[in-house]
Amino acid sequence: MRLEPHEYHEALAQLAWQVELGADEAIGAVGVDRYAEKTSPKAVDKTVEKHVDTRVDVTTEPSDEAARLAAGCGDLEALRAALEGFDGCGLKRGARSTVFSDGSPAARVMIVGEAPDKDEDMQGRPFVGKSGQLLDKMLAAIGLGRNAESPEDAVYITNVLPWRPPQNREPLPDENTMMKPFLMRHIELVKPEVLLLVGDLSNQVLLNTNQRVARVRGQLHEVSGIPALPLFHPDYLLRTPAKKREAWADLLMLKTRLDEG
Ligand code: URA
Repeated sequence: MRLEPHEYHEALAQLAWQVELGADEAIGAVGVDRYAEKTSPKAVDKTVEKHVDTRVDVTTEPSDEAARLAAGCGDLEALRAALEGFDGCGLKRGARSTVFSDGSPAARVMIVGEAPDKDEDMQGRPFVGKSGQLLDKMLAAIGLGRNAESPEDAVYITNVLPWRPPQNREPLPDENTMMKPFLMRHIELVKPEVLLLVGDLSNQVLLNTNQRVARVRGQLHEVSGIPALPLFHPDYLLRTPAKKREAWADLLMLKTRLDEG
């Protein structure tokens, strides 16, 4: 059952109220009417059915809702709409845009960055600010670009989070976990040949690690069976140009992989 935003907030308020009254354990997703148990087994079944229809979403956590919504998306447009309609993550309230993607969904390479910054929030597209300009230059050096016509030369770009965190603060682990089902569905729908994981956050979320790019780069990993290559975030490269040499080596590894395939 899909809840309208006002219904969702109403359900959340009801849950908060129950907790205030002392409810401290969710025994089942469905409420049980103990009075009905005195009646015949048939009558009990009917009561439970009635409760399934009317109460199941009262106890739905936003992360369960995210997983349910993401799993139900059959294409990218449905996924975009589901994200735009999802109100479970607090980041959305402070953001101007839902930054979904850029580039070609037919591309062989899918890039996953971290989260939108100010420019991305204003324009509604990922990697359009200073770091995006450097990313475009890096990709061009190996013959790739977000506006390339052929899927051979194109890239598809998204982020772990579609909303800009306030004042660019670090996203909270709960926010990353909540939004991960949308990202995993995004990857499943695009089905890229290679993933390029740009920045610490996308490596940590998709490789399920606490390590930073510096520790995981230089080799191919796997995300749901798809080869995944870590890359330093262009923001970091702007601050630490000495690391460009390693980033260049990683880009050449990506090119070799594409040439071989
Ligand atoms: N940094 C990111 O990781 N993604 C963007 O879209 C912009 C900056």
